[in-house]
Amino acid sequence: MPEGHTIHALARRLDAAYADGVVAATSPQGRFTEGAALVDGSVWLGAEAFGKHLLVGLDLPRELAGTRLHVHLGLFGRFSVRQHRRKARPAPDDLPVRGQVRLRLVNDTHVGDLRGPTACTLVDADEVAALLARLGPDPLREDADPEAGWRTISRSRRSIGALLMDQSVVAGVGNVYRAEVLHRARLDPFTPGRDLPREVYDELWSDLVRLMAVGVEVGSIVTREDDLERTLYWEGRGRFRASYEVYRRAGQACRRCGERIRSAEMVARTLTWCPGCQVAPS
Ligand SMILES: [Zn+2]
Repeated sequence: MPEGHTIHALARRLDAAYADGVVAATSPQGRFTEGAALVDGSVWLGAEAFGKHLLVGLDLPRELAGTRLHVHLGLFGRFSVRQHRRKARPAPDDLPVRGQVRLRLVNDTHVGDLRGPTACTLVDADEVAALLARLGPDPLREDADPEAGWRTISRSRRSIGALLMDQSVVAGVGNVYRAEVLHRARLDPFTPGRDLPREVYDELWSDLVRLMAVGVEVGSIVTREDDLERTLYWEGRGRFRASYEVYRRAGQACRRCGERIRSAEMVARTLTWCPGCQVAPS
């Protein structure tokens, strides 16, 4: 599943392609025909990410004021945006369609195709408020309130490994950041939230803020110090290849302590951790 950095990068790409201009919209697949008809011909006001949710403001008719386009990619969704290189703005149907395109957005320069999302709907102002109320603070947002995450975590018997995956506790963290950030903090993923010292939470939060911002910049999850240093000299060509300390390394030796990395199901996803150097807080 794409983690929050992917959605923040997507919001930037969409804004670079569409901001302040009129978009044409269709649903080639037919599953978002009515919604696309409302989006069609509106001015793109701006895309924003909240955790793994994308919300797009559009200049819609007065009776739809405050309504936004809501997209959640889920496990398999993809939103590709590319230049179409036509001289005049093509009608959306003039460009070839590959696969099941739920929503197509076209302007003078770009075509964006959304495939396989969990959610692609128009949501009114009340629904936006309800959606945002369900989300914990997002380390990638400047308006995030880390206290809100701490309030939940510090009262919970659930493990920190489960809490980090709960979007209502911290928004945007997925399986890879969970595993890696807990290893960086030398923290046992099974530690109950209420046993977590405040300074360990603060360290986890600021580490997520730092790592996820790098993730937005380079388009990959980067968590190892030598990889992080490499991003400073990376010129943005091709895919940034990062390696991990524990994610997908079950059975291999921990580079820090030599112990064998273990795996277990936690919140329906495979958690990997090192039982040698990830310990309960003292
Ligand atoms: Zn270790």
